[in-house]
Amino acid sequence: MAILEVKNVGKRFGGLQALGDVNLNVEENTVHAIIGPNGAGKSTLLNCLVGKLIPDTGSVMFDGQSVLGRKPFEINQMGISRVFQTPEIFGDLTVMENMLIPCFAKRDGAFRMHALETIANEQDIVAKAEEMLVDMNMIDKREMHAASMSRGDKRRLEIAMCLAQDPRLLLLDEPTAGMARADTNNTIDLLKRIKDERDITIAIIEHDMHVVFSLAERITVLAQGTPLVEDTPDKIKGHPKVREAYLGE
Ligand code: ADP
Ligand code: MG
Repeated sequence: MAILEVKNVGKRFGGLQALGDVNLNVEENTVHAIIGPNGAGKSTLLNCLVGKLIPDTGSVMFDGQSVLGRKPFEINQMGISRVFQTPEIFGDLTVMENMLIPCFAKRDGAFRMHALETIANEQDIVAKAEEMLVDMNMIDKREMHAASMSRGDKRRLEIAMCLAQDPRLLLLDEPTAGMARADTNNTIDLLKRIKDERDITIAIIEHDMHVVFSLAERITVLAQGTPLVEDTPDKIKGHPKVREAYLGE
């Protein structure tokens, strides 16, 4: 069953047709990669899924319900979490404080920044945040300022913050961009583990073909705002247009 159904989605920025006519189904409990050259419309598509942008045409259904017309936090509450192209963590806060925020939001459905000190005394929230940090191998960094961490650790924290909300669909926009190889491999292992241990669907935009072929069960190639081809990794690897465009052949 498709947990996410994108039908005939189009999005124009002034004279630029960023998305033409996008049709895409993401099956439940799979890892689905979206690849394509710079400017293909990948981030625009993701923005249309999470309420950051409203498409001009088409429909987006998550688990049988339309996401269009809902605000980003409402879509998040429906069960979609998203990791942005640049890490969106609170650099001035510690790792633990960052982790408390989604744990609180999950419990109470909203978060007010001034409430952070109060939350730090709420045992169930603290316990959940600690559990997530232990699970993500970050508990020894709990008092560290988030801004001072490596890019890989920032990304790990951001993924942990998304997972604390128990999403059914995790969307990742180039999670390994700018990462050293070791961090990239750690991220691949982390995503594999998340997939194995949780009832979760992952849609990932990714440039690094090593990451794509390590994780994806299904791949959509987007070019100039339109899906060019969608298939299994093996078929995509052998596809002449994809070989030409991505594998330099
Ligand atoms: P990708 O993520 O595949 O690199 P994007 O979705 O970011 O591509 O961009 C698709 C096209 O839309 C690009 O030509 C980009 O310059 C343009 N674009 C993206 N966002 C905006 C915006 N907010 N306003 C105007 N043009 C935009
Ligand atoms: Mg992008």
